[in-house]
Amino acid sequence: MSRVNTVLGEVSTSELGLVAFHEHIGYGMPGSELDSKWWKSPEQAYEETVPKLRKFHELGGGTFVDATGICNGRDLDYYKSLSAKTGVHIVACTGFVGGDTALQHFANASVEYLTDQFVHEITVGIGNSGSRAGAIKVGVSRGGRMTELDKRIYRAAARAALATGVPILTHLAIDAETSIAIFNEEGLSLNRVVFGHVDDGVNHDKTRDTWIAEQGGRIGFDTFGYETELPDPPFWARPRQDRLDHFLRFIGAGYLDLVLASADANCSPLGWPGVKGHTVNYIFEDLIPDLRNAGVDEATITKIFYDNPASFLSIQN
Ligand SMILES: [Zn+2]
Repeated sequence: MSRVNTVLGEVSTSELGLVAFHEHIGYGMPGSELDSKWWKSPEQAYEETVPKLRKFHELGGGTFVDATGICNGRDLDYYKSLSAKTGVHIVACTGFVGGDTALQHFANASVEYLTDQFVHEITVGIGNSGSRAGAIKVGVSRGGRMTELDKRIYRAAARAALATGVPILTHLAIDAETSIAIFNEEGLSLNRVVFGHVDDGVNHDKTRDTWIAEQGGRIGFDTFGYETELPDPPFWARPRQDRLDHFLRFIGAGYLDLVLASADANCSPLGWPGVKGHTVNYIFEDLIPDLRNAGVDEATITKIFYDNPASFLSIQN
């Protein structure tokens, strides 16, 4: 039976239900925890987060993948309590959002050290929380090209994925020639990698999504809901219809088996105000209705939100 590491232990992929494969309980830049003007009480964090997760569960959500990784506000004891309170399976990640969010201790580390760190968090646990990571986060630093540190992290992630069987999520799919070369050198099947943020407003026209898919990489349309129509849209926003058309074109071109979709929302942002009016529940309130209105059938919706993420997240070794 296929299994997935959640913060409360292993679960069968058949129990995952609808999966939001790239989300955040709370995301902040490293150091934001030292900026006292942003400090939140535990009560405030729960108050902001629990209703969103409860609603996710009520609307039919089963599993929430927290793609935060090390250094950006990951908090396992908090995640465990949220999962127990709301009934939502939460999958935590090891790894880093990008080389440029890895703190000095890790930025100076060798590929071997980083590999050991990721493997430990996947097989033994994250600190003394008793929770094991269910996926590895990697990403491309700001600037559009992979840095030397990004490459070290990708190589360590590939080795840890091969050693443990958990998959990799990428922040950004630009400079994919470089990342795919590393995965190929390490012998990791691209089916174990979702190349994320192909749909955001800044990078979508620089991202070779069909080229990545032709080589077997999974493709993450995971910034749904960051729309220019929002009252105060972020810089990576994109017109709603434009993103939806991109997604429909991609699945219509024969890549349905490789797509994953999510909202990349923050339940309770850390060190920044977040994007008002955007939550994980965009999936139920807007995206699935938009897909139905566009004529997408229920079997396809099930494939996107249940079958594909279950296949992606299952530990394969
Ligand atoms: Zn994210």
